[in-house]
Amino acid sequence: MIPAAKPLLGEDEANAVAEVIKSGMLAQGKKVAEFEEKFGKFIGAKHTIAVGNGTQALHVALLAAGVKRGNEVITTAFSFLASATSIVHCGAKPVFCDIDPKTFNMDPDDVRKLITPKTKAIMPVHLFGLSSDVKELQKICDEHDIALVEDACQSHGAQVNGRGVGTFGITSAFSFYPTKNMTTGEGGAVTTMDNETAELCKLIRNQGQLSRYNCVMIGYNYRMTDIGGAIGIEQLKKLPKWTETRIKNAAYLDKELGKAGIAVPYVPKGYKHVYHQYTIRVKNRDNVQKKLADMGVGSGVYYPQGLHELGPLAKYRTRKLPKVEKACKEVLALPVHPALTKEDLGTVAKSVVKAVA
Ligand SMILES: *Cc1c(COP(=O)(O)O)cnc(C)c1O
Repeated sequence: MIPAAKPLLGEDEANAVAEVIKSGMLAQGKKVAEFEEKFGKFIGAKHTIAVGNGTQALHVALLAAGVKRGNEVITTAFSFLASATSIVHCGAKPVFCDIDPKTFNMDPDDVRKLITPKTKAIMPVHLFGLSSDVKELQKICDEHDIALVEDACQSHGAQVNGRGVGTFGITSAFSFYPTKNMTTGEGGAVTTMDNETAELCKLIRNQGQLSRYNCVMIGYNYRMTDIGGAIGIEQLKKLPKWTETRIKNAAYLDKELGKAGIAVPYVPKGYKHVYHQYTIRVKNRDNVQKKLADMGVGSGVYYPQGLHELGPLAKYRTRKLPKVEKACKEVLALPVHPALTKEDLGTVAKSVVKAVA
């Protein structure tokens, strides 16, 4: 079976972890600091605050942007759970907007309709490795004096006109879960261009302490381990190459699937898509997915349900989101990861064309 995703871990990561274990210093320390510096450089952010996972990164990013009880935060309903639960963790209310059917990202025109006096922030999710329309969203934020917080958990290295996601918002969140474009085991990071905000993120991460027992606010323990940091340093060395391979793999699939008239991912002009997922739209999606599995090709459905209809989040649903609901029925993510061989890619393309026909 060709897997839908595959974390790439080898000798380099194993040796780096062994080194940390032998040092006896496992908690946040030198390795995390080095990882933060290198990750910031990679995406072009001034400050990186590493945390335990992407959900924590979102929570810290929202808190540091000033989101609190009684606020509303506009986000997309077409995302992973944590995009909304992190808002709830702040005591705020997620307000779900519809998507642009071409990019799967939040539709700025719909966002405009949802602004109220309670809106504190807009949180776009750069879904599947493609940036949201940050220029238009920033404009809306400026007009209403509200914060832009980026959920960049799927978009390490994605860019708009040469500028990295994670540098547009007051804060941004990344995830290093094993299936993401790079991993630290579990892990996450908040990025920001603002010095004071960076200090606030560090306080929130470490029990609200400025220094040991000098506690100035109620914080959390959201620290990353040096084991995670060490893995991250090794992964970062390879991430540019892996991203290139993802883009090449996507170009191949675009060409082969495009010939068969299949709706392939859309990339707006000036955007660098890093293909965390390669998502197509098909009719009879579940049937196509089953056929692919029979041919030995793994695939994924992100997402089968909008957040506005998902479990306890459904209480925040205020209306239908037709474009999200349609996407939920049609999307299928195909293998695009850098562990694929040329032969695998050929098999994926041929099998999809056959399954759709
Ligand atoms: C993975 C992901 C998260 C959460 O990250 P974890 O590290 O799993 O906590 C949040 N938002 C999006 C869009 C994600 O894909």
